[in-house]
Amino acid sequence: MSPASFRRRFRRIAWWAAAACFALAHCRCGSAQAVDLAAIRTAGAKLQPLAAAKRPAGPSDWLANHRESGQTFDHYRATDPNRPTRQLTTIYIQPLGAFSAAEQKLLDRAAELLRVFYRLPVKSLEPIALAELPARARRKQPSVGNEQILTTYVLNELLPARRPRDAVALLALTAVDLWPGEGWNFVFGQGALRERVGVYSLARYGDPAEDDAAYQLALRRTLKVACHETGHMLGIVHCTASECGMNGSNTIDELDRNQLGFCPACEQKVWWACHLDPRQRYAGLIEFARANQLADELRLWEASSRLLIAK
Ligand SMILES: [Zn+2]
Ligand SMILES: [Zn+2]
Repeated sequence: MSPASFRRRFRRIAWWAAAACFALAHCRCGSAQAVDLAAIRTAGAKLQPLAAAKRPAGPSDWLANHRESGQTFDHYRATDPNRPTRQLTTIYIQPLGAFSAAEQKLLDRAAELLRVFYRLPVKSLEPIALAELPARARRKQPSVGNEQILTTYVLNELLPARRPRDAVALLALTAVDLWPGEGWNFVFGQGALRERVGVYSLARYGDPAEDDAAYQLALRRTLKVACHETGHMLGIVHCTASECGMNGSNTIDELDRNQLGFCPACEQKVWWACHLDPRQRYAGLIEFARANQLADELRLWEASSRLLIAK
């Protein structure tokens, strides 16, 4: 199958990278919704001074290689996205394969941030051993020889069969490299907008056990992808208007240049999707950023909190 036909076949799947939400008892109609929307728009307007226009894409960057038109808050709501309900209450993490102690620490921090970022319960499922995967879902990368897992098997077969009934999102995490099928060398990760499943790999984030700097770099990469992929699972598409955690990343360099925090428009999508109080959320995010030495994120979330409190 050619890469082009492969892409057409899976057009509903949001690619994260190519090779080379909590008051769940709200009903979704009526006056309560209208009041929520007005409050969200007012809070979003307060954050507008923090919006930074998207920098022009370099030749290797995502937007130079993918035609995308972005998504306003209103466009997002009009898609009736997957989001928390009375039935879909929890984000699940599915470990896939083995993890070193340092890699496990990255997973634990990612689960913590997801809990604070989307203000949802986050639970980890029992790990799945690589030996449980069929031979057709594993390979040695043809040119380099490293082990890889087939993302389409994980997304289309493995995860849907194991998805808990109350899962608003199920994220498989692995330290093994990934590939999405014929014609591709690898992907960093992949999520399905409607199916509520995603998979991503830590394999290309560097060795977090090497030293403190390497750990911090791998941590930021892991946290960025965890928030970004979960955003996809809630129907948020790539942001093209502003510097934002929902910007596409074509390379690890671009991922490093992209920010972790979301822009004001994408923040409104999270608040609305997850029925959450933004001020409580920023208090949690600030605490997380302090505890994990995330200076850029601490600045953004402290500024957001100040603007929301201001009259
Ligand atoms: Zn993406
Ligand atoms: Zn955005």
